[in-house]
Amino acid sequence: MILPSPIVPENASSSKDSPTNKLSGAKTIAVIGGGPAGLMAAEAASAHGHAVTVFDTMPSLGRKFLMAGRGGLNVTHSEPLDLFYARYGESAFNIKRYLENFGPAQITEWCAGLGIDTFVGSSGRIFPKDFKAAPLLRAWVRRLRAQGVKILVRHRWQGWSDNSELIFDAPGGRLSFGSDATILALGGGSWPSLGSDGKWLDLLHANSIGCTPLKPANCGFDLDWSDFFSAKFAGSPLKSITLSFERQSVKGDLMLTKTGIEGGPVYALSASIRDEIACAGTAVVYLDLCPDRSLDKLIAELSASRGSRSVSAQLKRILNLSPPALSLARECANNTLPSASEDLARLLKAVPLIAKRPRPLAEAISSGGGVRWDQVDENLQIKSRPGLYVAGEMLDWEAPTGGYLLTGCLSLGYAAGNAAAG
Ligand SMILES: Cc1cc2nc3c(=O)[nH]c(=O)nc-3n(C[C@H](O)[C@H](O)[C@H](O)COP(=O)(O)OP(=O)(O)OC[C@H]3O[C@@H](n4cnc5c(N)ncnc54)[C@H](O)[C@@H]3O)c2cc1C
Repeated sequence: MILPSPIVPENASSSKDSPTNKLSGAKTIAVIGGGPAGLMAAEAASAHGHAVTVFDTMPSLGRKFLMAGRGGLNVTHSEPLDLFYARYGESAFNIKRYLENFGPAQITEWCAGLGIDTFVGSSGRIFPKDFKAAPLLRAWVRRLRAQGVKILVRHRWQGWSDNSELIFDAPGGRLSFGSDATILALGGGSWPSLGSDGKWLDLLHANSIGCTPLKPANCGFDLDWSDFFSAKFAGSPLKSITLSFERQSVKGDLMLTKTGIEGGPVYALSASIRDEIACAGTAVVYLDLCPDRSLDKLIAELSASRGSRSVSAQLKRILNLSPPALSLARECANNTLPSASEDLARLLKAVPLIAKRPRPLAEAISSGGGVRWDQVDENLQIKSRPGLYVAGEMLDWEAPTGGYLLTGCLSLGYAAGNAAAG
């Protein structure tokens, strides 16, 4: 994989040089993790005049944020707030108070303050006008440096020493760092090559901080295609379909993979599908290949148009079904398309797909699980460890794609930074 270009030069200062210019009365605050949650925490805490140092294990900051920029950087969403909060599902109860303080409106304003204009796309999603993450991150890091934030990359946090100092593996060897407050913003467990590898779970467990295991969110699923189907159609899109699971339906484009399915509609339903697989072993999702036709209309069209044509020829001519769509319907109907028009129409409106496994966490867009909400107070401070705060994806919440993830991370970072400063 090609990584986005680094924002912090590789020869960034080590913790042994440049002492921080600490004002009297200012706290020393360590922010560990230089993704969106950590950088927002650093911005909020340093705005109070505290001496803030950001540590990150990677050679540069915000690698996952930059990767999100490859898809246009959907920073937030413009829908009504009640609907917006509901997107966080079971986590909405815990995360809403932070979103109320720093939500879609504040994020748009914050982007503008960094010189990044945003716009609302046709789906209601909000993006930077240039669809890029790098200019925003560059402006952000400039602001942090101007506020006196010190940035130390290639510093991997390894826990605490016996006298409760933070320990890092740094380019010059082991380093310990004493802080008045520490904010952990170490991310989830997806795309570990970008820095957030979930290894912090063991460090927190060892310190009796309760976490639920990380699990893939916004992920694809394995369906175990036949060899023929996999070889012929892996990588093919199915355009403008509707995917349904239980009572939820999502329209969009789906991608057939070597082993199953991925894409927007799959990610949107992935939490429920994943949980059903965990409970029942498999989950049956239904694919509507003709979402713009009602069942009755489809039956009528198929009944009227058959003539002496084969079923496949009829479907190609009347419905303009693509070869992968046609083959998928056949694959999921034991290799035989029904000849009766009504049965055929019912199949095309609800092709049953049996999801067997979520794709591995490393491939997911984000992760669920993490630090349990009962471990933190309303300031995101670990109850059993005063002075230690957590923010971002490492807390136990999840949300679909659509700007909800970055909004959640930024609002939690903002809350933790202000609380640590306060
Ligand atoms: C391909 C892709 C596209 C995405 N697109 C979008 C999108 O358009 N919109 C959206 O809302 N969300 C999107 N997301 C999700 C979003 O990027 C993440 O939810 C967000 O980056 C999480 O922020 P975070 O600060 O909590 O963690 P991260 O961004 O993961 O940052 C955590 C940081 O902690 C560092 N770290 C980890 N362990 C240690 C350690 N032991 N010591 C020191 N440092 C450590 C890591 O190096 C990393 O820099 C996308 C994700 C992916 C993978």
